[in-house]
Amino acid sequence: MYARLLGMLPVEQSCYWLATRQGYNPEPSLTGNIDCDVAVIGAGFTGLWTAYFLKELQPDLDVAVVERYVTGYGASGRNAGMVSTCLDHTHSLAIEHFGREEAQRLAHIGLANIDELGKFADDCDWERTGQLQVALVPKHIDDLKSNFEVAREIGLPGYRLLGRDEVRAELDSPLYIAGLYVPGGAILNPIKLIDKLKRHLLEKGGRLFEKTRVVSLDGRSPNGQSHSDSHTIECENGTLRARKFVLATDAYTHHLVPQLLWRFIPLYDYILVSEPLSAEQMEKLRWQNRQGIVDGRTFFNYYRLTSDNRVLWGTSEAVYYPPNKVDETCDHSTKHYQTLEDSWKRHFPALADLSFPYRWGGPIASTTRLTPFFGTAYGGNVIYGLGYTGHGIGTTRLAGKILAHLATARDDELLKLKMVTDKPFPYPPEPLRSLSVKAVTKSLQQVDAGGSPNLLLKLLDVMGIGFSS
Ligand SMILES: Cc1cc2nc3c(=O)[nH]c(=O)nc-3n(C[C@H](O)[C@H](O)[C@H](O)COP(=O)(O)OP(=O)(O)OC[C@H]3O[C@@H](n4cnc5c(N)ncnc54)[C@H](O)[C@@H]3O)c2cc1C
Repeated sequence: MYARLLGMLPVEQSCYWLATRQGYNPEPSLTGNIDCDVAVIGAGFTGLWTAYFLKELQPDLDVAVVERYVTGYGASGRNAGMVSTCLDHTHSLAIEHFGREEAQRLAHIGLANIDELGKFADDCDWERTGQLQVALVPKHIDDLKSNFEVAREIGLPGYRLLGRDEVRAELDSPLYIAGLYVPGGAILNPIKLIDKLKRHLLEKGGRLFEKTRVVSLDGRSPNGQSHSDSHTIECENGTLRARKFVLATDAYTHHLVPQLLWRFIPLYDYILVSEPLSAEQMEKLRWQNRQGIVDGRTFFNYYRLTSDNRVLWGTSEAVYYPPNKVDETCDHSTKHYQTLEDSWKRHFPALADLSFPYRWGGPIASTTRLTPFFGTAYGGNVIYGLGYTGHGIGTTRLAGKILAHLATARDDELLKLKMVTDKPFPYPPEPLRSLSVKAVTKSLQQVDAGGSPNLLLKLLDVMGIGFSS
């Protein structure tokens, strides 16, 4: 509705993945009072992977998933579909956040996770292309060299530094001055993965209620009695009683648990998808190995080809809409669409007239350490995991495994990770939140424009605090 007022299509029609989704049939919404063993709130990757692992761990467990809109309506159906093996934004940051030993462990867990994900997603337009990091200015070359060295130190093979001509042979942009090939990563169609996870849940006997908004986690049982071994929550047209609840609502989480805003900030990222490229246009780009690509700026462009050879062109210059707004009024940004089109033309002048009929935004939950966090609320009855900071396709699979173990009180090596046991440094509340986001964004933009980090950035760096999508 709001999108139409702006002259834009609603996200279901403007997001390439959602708009081209095949044969989607929503499950009925929840009415009345329902009982189950474990209930999952949110049917994005986190919620559906949690349900997947719950059924793996205990096939007879009665699992119900509730989703406010349709499965994949949140970030999981709107992302770039670029799958990274790295669980932090880079291995260097993982060392900074968790120490060298843990970073090494995370690196190997991340690789094995993508191998497993690839086996499941092999029919979701999965392409194990690896990733290219590209340098646009000399400072980025130093960063690429450092990434290469860190990979060698923690025992990750196959990284390759590329000179100007080598990187331009992979994709021909006049802005590239060097590159780093990062093996292991992949591209996929995220909504095909969502739909496969949904089918899997239903085949295994799980229940899914779509178009079902959870209104309050404070719900009372229908007869007014409380139960020590269960908890009841309130949905729009009924209640849901379970022994455990898993909250898998990522950037929407504060709508149900406002206290968690201390640990994350909701931001919006924006993406364009082009018309399909002709053979002649493909020839001009020379993108024959089809890698997903990111550049070395803090607010970087990320891009890839779709299976029908469209260019997906995104920006990590994320927006914070105060006070912590996450709703359909944030789904479009004409300013970002213009910046994206301009940057495309600068990167690829040979294809400057390419048109981008799909354009949309999506919500991201960002943390100061750029990785997710986990915990419990309501006396341990509600377990949560969120905060993937724009980097969640691989990590949500691990989070699902972690949450399924926590919900069934089973032990696993993953539960010992610092990412699980420790919480990220908090964000300030409003109005300080808006002011600090503005100050940090401006400082980072100056660095991307070639300036040196100012005092504020140096201070945040010492404290290990990041701001990114
Ligand atoms: C534009 C964009 C580009 C991205 N690109 C990449 C990328 O290339 N690679 C990568 O690894 N990651 C990327 N990400 C991040 C990745 O998509 C997310 O980290 C991941 O999808 C988070 O999954 P989730 O299931 O936790 O959250 P979501 O997918 O947001 O799911 C949360 C669900 O909870 C539901 N919900 C919320 N409130 C309620 C309620 N009250 N009752 C019931 N249901 C509710 C929502 O409707 C939603 O479906 C990107 C994200 C965006 C937005």
